[in-house]
Amino acid sequence: MDKAAAKITSFIASNAAVYDWISQSIWENPETAFNEEKSSAIYRERLADSGFQITEFPEMPHSFMGEKGSSGPVIAFMGEYDALPGMSQRCSTSREPVSPGAPGHACGHNLLGMGSLAAAEALAYAAQESGIPIRVRYYGCPAEESLGRIPLVKAGRFNDADAVMTWHPADVNTPHRYTTSANLALIFNFTGKASHAAMAPQTGRSALDAVQLFNLSLEFMREHVQPGVMLHYVISNGGDRPNIVPSKAASFLYIRAPNAAVIRSVAKRILKAAKGACLMTETGYSIEIQHGKCDYIPNDTIQDVMAQAMRGIPLPEPAEAERDFMKTLQATVPKADRLATLDPIGAPRELAAQVWHDSCGDFGRGKRIGGSLDTGDVSYVAPTGQMNAATWPIGVGAHTWQSCSASGSSWAFKAARWAGACLALSGFMLAENPALLEKAKKEHRRTAPPYRSTMDL
Ligand SMILES: [Zn+2]
Repeated sequence: MDKAAAKITSFIASNAAVYDWISQSIWENPETAFNEEKSSAIYRERLADSGFQITEFPEMPHSFMGEKGSSGPVIAFMGEYDALPGMSQRCSTSREPVSPGAPGHACGHNLLGMGSLAAAEALAYAAQESGIPIRVRYYGCPAEESLGRIPLVKAGRFNDADAVMTWHPADVNTPHRYTTSANLALIFNFTGKASHAAMAPQTGRSALDAVQLFNLSLEFMREHVQPGVMLHYVISNGGDRPNIVPSKAASFLYIRAPNAAVIRSVAKRILKAAKGACLMTETGYSIEIQHGKCDYIPNDTIQDVMAQAMRGIPLPEPAEAERDFMKTLQATVPKADRLATLDPIGAPRELAAQVWHDSCGDFGRGKRIGGSLDTGDVSYVAPTGQMNAATWPIGVGAHTWQSCSASGSSWAFKAARWAGACLALSGFMLAENPALLEKAKKEHRRTAPPYRSTMDL
């Protein structure tokens, strides 16, 4: 393991300039979900130059797979590259958009895609040097902030992978032991009959009445669903004017639950509630499924390997200017709010007193976070592992101006390269030890139910 770690670290160090250029370029040209044309091209061109065979997938624009090697186990890494709308921010310690209203990399996917690329290239190199047969894959996964890789999973693109790994920029270094919530996002469109609200109310049937009764039914339902179910909604269409009985109105709802099976059982009852609202108001309804994700099933065998790999790759040291940057940036997050990133994943609260995470933790076993990840669907079809790397100061959460700022910093680029090295070493350890890989697959067969997307009600 030490020899492989050295090979991987030196390979990534010798390519650092290219990797940092990728992190920087994608951060400077943020492309939102489904629009990642340039970001995807950067990865495809780089991988092709490094000897990877590129296959573009028809299921989603800007999705692809790069593969190197012709025999041996398939070890795959996933990269994301979409930005968030409205999050434009300079790499600075105060709120300062590059262009107000423009997108920005507030989830650090400029780092995520690059770290996984470094992992794929370094693993292919180290395995070849050591004479270990392997097929290394990089999955280019667009639109993570929206539909995500669900169409790729449904098309069976991950089915033959022996192990799939990824990472996420964060404020701590830890294997991703915790699970995530399954979710389903859907719009209930109600249709009634317009009329003058004062002159002929008796001839109108209000779609907004149906929306309100439907939403109210959700409030009563909350008490009688499985523990851990969350329902959040907005009225996405409430009509146009008070003096027109609304013929169209809509409720945009997210259902979250501990797992995909619970999503399906709750969704069935919610459909009944929508029917009930229609019956009461003499309206009709239709649903539009926006997106939906399964819960994440961490593969302990792979997570253990990742924990070991993280301890086997020395953490980078921030330069003085990087320390100052992180300290000033962290100060913009109120002390009490810093626990919001630590508590949900079971990280020790004492960490809130530090500026950056200078060691490797191992948090989150048995925990579930409220948010959802499309890695969840992948974990239903292949043994899957994840880790977090501290690219941001402690207490800086994803989807904030601070995380966007930090994701464009030289410190984040270093930390992302470290994450890439940890993933590569994890892949190496799995590929050189067939018994370990078999253990991961056996665990997967035991823990993952048959796959069905939460979008398929
Ligand atoms: Zn993200």
